[in-house]
Amino acid sequence: MVRVITVQDLRKLLKKLTLKTFMLKLIDQLRSDYARWGEFEKSPRHAIYLPDGVIELMPIADKEYYSFKYVNGHPNNPESQKLTVVAIGGLSSTKNGYPLLISEMTILTAIRTAVTSALASQYLAKKGAKKFGIIGTGAQSEFQTLAHFFALGTDEIFYFDIDAHAMEKFEQNLKPYGLQLHRCKDAQEVAKKSDLITTATAKKGHQKILHVDWVHNGCHINGIGGDAPGKTELEEALLKKCKIVIEQEMQSRVEGEIQQLHGNRIYAELWELAALKKKGRESDEEITLFDSVGFALEDYSALRLLYNLSIEHGIGEQLEMIPHPTDPKNLYGEIR
Ligand code: NAD
Repeated sequence: MVRVITVQDLRKLLKKLTLKTFMLKLIDQLRSDYARWGEFEKSPRHAIYLPDGVIELMPIADKEYYSFKYVNGHPNNPESQKLTVVAIGGLSSTKNGYPLLISEMTILTAIRTAVTSALASQYLAKKGAKKFGIIGTGAQSEFQTLAHFFALGTDEIFYFDIDAHAMEKFEQNLKPYGLQLHRCKDAQEVAKKSDLITTATAKKGHQKILHVDWVHNGCHINGIGGDAPGKTELEEALLKKCKIVIEQEMQSRVEGEIQQLHGNRIYAELWELAALKKKGRESDEEITLFDSVGFALEDYSALRLLYNLSIEHGIGEQLEMIPHPTDPKNLYGEIR
């Protein structure tokens, strides 16, 4: 039997546990999985680039589990009332290859992306930073804001989107959390007023969402929207001023902000900070960047946590996705 987690099941689990508890558990899981980076069999994701977007497969394994995710990125989808990013994924036993879990991963991806950003911020943002900025208040934005609020206590929020409706939605969704919400007139105002900034826009092409002159010393940036060849958000001159942390060099060189850079200007991969091989922020002056594209290990951590919690709380349904013949050589007997 394979445990199947639908959107409704995930909603049920989050209601039982709270999003805060789930995110804080995931940040611990991510930190410990990133710290044992060497134990994983991994590779850059497999991507098929299409005229309207990208479809990717993201596998990874350690001694116990194999995980994979199917995910897309189609920036024009919202024009036809569809999400830009949707995903499904699974977890299997590496011992016998049997699938254990199949799950919705659209919401789980937003959660794991936000928690990964918050993990990077814990290493790279200035201690005591309270002012969180976000540019692009689409599907990922509340998750980014809340992961930072829960993990770092950032409770003063500055935000901007070219779509006023997206900002209204953001305000409505975050109302219950008692955050100080400041709608900004443009991205420059967000940059000027924030200690930490997430850029979460979705557009093909080399955009310039953040300019070098707008970002003050001591700021930390999580760039999550530059995540495919020819799709970036930050000005090249800004990159050159930043201390840059990435997820995995081979994948990030093709997909990340650093595709704009020639030569080696990368400070570290995230696992090196989690394993305490390298320091995070070293002075109050430096501008730091976590150039996030999303790596399979983050899905592994999220699926592993979800699998264990779904068993603990009796969430999801066990479905016969795999035949179980009494004689394993008699597969035909299953349909006779
Ligand atoms: P979305 O389409 O729901 O939201 C994007 C928002 O950006 C929209 O509201 C749009 O109006 C706004 N926007 C576009 N250009 C802008 C500009 N110049 N200034 C201000 N706002 C602007 O997309 P989403 O699901 O929120 O994803 C955001 C980005 O994050 C996408 O590029 C996606 O590919 C990326 N992403 C990255 C990861 C990762 O792991 N790094 C994971 C998930 C999504």
